[in-house]
Amino acid sequence: MNNQKVGILGGGQLGRMMIEAASRLNLQVTILDAPIDSPAKQIESTQPHIQGAFNDATKIRELASQVDILTVEIEHVDAGVLAAIETEGKVRVCPSAFTVKTIQDKYNQKKHLESFGIPVAEYVEIADAEALKEAGKKFGYPLMLKSKTMAYDGKGNYVVKNEGEVEKAVEALSKTPLYAEKWAPFVKELAVMVVRRANGEILSYPVVETIHKNSICHLVIAPAQIDGAVATKAQKVAENAIKSFPGAGIFGVEMFVMANGEILLNEIAPRPHNSGHYTIEACETSQYENHMRAILDMPLGSTAMKVPASIMVNILGSNTDMTECYKPCQEALLVDGATIHLYGKKECRAGRKMGHITLVGESMMQVQKNLKPILEAMEPGVE
Ligand code: ATP
Ligand code: MG
Ligand code: MG
Repeated sequence: MNNQKVGILGGGQLGRMMIEAASRLNLQVTILDAPIDSPAKQIESTQPHIQGAFNDATKIRELASQVDILTVEIEHVDAGVLAAIETEGKVRVCPSAFTVKTIQDKYNQKKHLESFGIPVAEYVEIADAEALKEAGKKFGYPLMLKSKTMAYDGKGNYVVKNEGEVEKAVEALSKTPLYAEKWAPFVKELAVMVVRRANGEILSYPVVETIHKNSICHLVIAPAQIDGAVATKAQKVAENAIKSFPGAGIFGVEMFVMANGEILLNEIAPRPHNSGHYTIEACETSQYENHMRAILDMPLGSTAMKVPASIMVNILGSNTDMTECYKPCQEALLVDGATIHLYGKKECRAGRKMGHITLVGESMMQVQKNLKPILEAMEPGVE
């Protein structure tokens, strides 16, 4: 349907689901990732994929030489080489090297958002334990110490409960540059996927609620069961935030809702996002398909939900044994409206995202009821 070839930096589950969407449209996608059998490469045998790290400049160059458009499924890539490729002008970079570079450093991301008037929790750069003690005096405790770079799934976050934990916290995150955030005593976490077509058109998906466990996304409830005015505000904050970043593609926007209805933006992902997996079964057009349409400058599909209610649950490894992950899946086989997605990852580890299950139904009550046996199979005895 489109002669332009797409190259993706990263071949994990997000790349895999992009390939699923692309293959239905006969789009040509090449993956750059180290494993020869990464989740995305496994399901696309028509293209010659590249074996190498998605932050290796030479390998990114090799990928660029084979495609018309470069995009990412992870922001922790070499943004410098993307900028050089963009300047040369032969290959388009989506969303853009500037956007990936700004977002991959969460401190710079916050500075950027603040300069555009987007509400964020107070934050300050942290050079050492002394600086963190100063931050503690200013923000109070608990506060969140965060790695500026290479953060994902809460790795890079440290909840500092009191001044006595300052040294331990700085030591624990010593591998990366740091900043601290004032604690946000949110009542709910929300997320919105926003997509921008290469021609500038912007659409957003419904507001969803995300529930995290140990800083890792556990459930996504779509649509969020919140006051309509709060949802409208969250959608507006998300759209305004994305308007401040140049480039085409899909973005995930994570937010906190405070008790007074105030919205704070937590962070942005310049790519498909875990909180948008539900769009595959629950929306007219999935986040993955719309990402492909957006970067290829094809008409965007409707972002509306086509079912009244949906919940997604992540399947995380509990140890090295994959059989634990199959238990909720076996249960899901018996549940109407449940779709299982396993990512084909060869190594199972505690806390690693190995798959997810999306349920759709006629009402949120029905979906919650159908989810129960699946959660029970995942964690017996835990509600
Ligand atoms: P992701 O996997 O989404 O990229 P991450 O590792 O970049 O996550 P964050 O999104 O910064 O980490 O934080 C993870 C979770 O920690 C948040 O979803 C939220 O539950 C909690 N959290 C983060 N910042 C704060 C804060 N300032 N106050 C309270 N809780 C917070
Ligand atoms: Mg993050
Ligand atoms: Mg996050």
